[in-house]
Amino acid sequence: MKILDKINLEKLIGILKQDGYKVIGPVIKDGVILYDEIDSIKDLPEGWEDEQEAASYRLKKTNDKSLFSYVVGPQSWKKFIFPQRLRLWKAKREGKGFSVNSTKESKPKYAFFGVRSCELNAIFIQDKVFNNGMFADSYYNEVRDNILIISVNCTRSAGTCFCVSMKTGPKAKNRFDISLTEVIKNEEHYFVLEEGSPRGSDITTQLETMDASEVQIKEADDAINNAALKMNRSMNTAGLKELLYSNHDHPIWAQIASKCLSCSNCTMVCPTCFCSNMEDTTDLSGNNTERWRRWDSCFNLDYSKVTGGNFRTSGKARYRQWMTHKLASWIDQFGTSGCVGCGRCITWCPVGIDITKEIENLRNSPMPITK
Ligand code: SF4
Ligand code: SF4
Repeated sequence: MKILDKINLEKLIGILKQDGYKVIGPVIKDGVILYDEIDSIKDLPEGWEDEQEAASYRLKKTNDKSLFSYVVGPQSWKKFIFPQRLRLWKAKREGKGFSVNSTKESKPKYAFFGVRSCELNAIFIQDKVFNNGMFADSYYNEVRDNILIISVNCTRSAGTCFCVSMKTGPKAKNRFDISLTEVIKNEEHYFVLEEGSPRGSDITTQLETMDASEVQIKEADDAINNAALKMNRSMNTAGLKELLYSNHDHPIWAQIASKCLSCSNCTMVCPTCFCSNMEDTTDLSGNNTERWRRWDSCFNLDYSKVTGGNFRTSGKARYRQWMTHKLASWIDQFGTSGCVGCGRCITWCPVGIDITKEIENLRNSPMPITK
């Protein structure tokens, strides 16, 4: 473990940029923390933290100069690897036929700066979705292969976090290139740095670091443990798959649907959701056409429209599908739960539907016996 000061944190961003990385990190925009390109630590949300509860998000000034006191905002890193809108190909009319423009566009080389442990786990989950043997997504994998990950361990938890119960946080355990833990104690402000890959070590050797003392490592560990201890929400995952599979006809789905607006916010903010749709467009001349992929949601009525009809016409069916897929059939499909406990779907649901509470309600209300 090493110690990095703020001057060298700035230097780290410079090295990444020199190496050709587009550095993406947390910035304040539109009153929330978003992920966007950064040039300097001056772009980071110094002295800001977030307060989150069901259907509520606020940024609040802190009394210190912490750079990573916020937890997570509405966006996740998926927007860079699985973009919201992506042109898949374009074609031009030629006589009675057409030709497809197969020019390969160069892919960005990203350094993700400030990835939380739950988000790192969400990236691993999306890796399973998009790097899936014969169904591998070429755009995703080309971008993903070049991403450098600098994770930042959480030293605060938001009111909607439940990563501890999902075993996805608050400390990043592996598959990062560099991990940082911010420590502010008395007049000291430093980062405990851990190298996680040869690429991370190469970069670290270009920085001025010091070996971390036992006291400094303990300060960092205590700060992370504090975030875990203060986490108010949890999800009991024992037998969860079986619970959901055996409650397809439970009245709880209608109760949730009576609140749910089918707005799709929960799926847009979720770092693992991956529904998409295709759109073909032509210009006014009729000579040029493009095929675009854009994010979609299983909460949208048209998403379940197929030849012959729609197999999920009710809000009840759509919420049940989302939760059952996320927490049960995802395990059969990809060998992992689809939830990392980031809490975004709770914060950004306009009516405050809480996935942890709904699971608890389901556990505590046995299926009524019908005669
Ligand atoms: S389901 Fe909710 S808590 Fe779980 S990963 Fe998605 S947004 Fe986060
Ligand atoms: S965010 Fe809330 S209201 Fe909107 S679709 Fe999801 S559960 Fe329903």
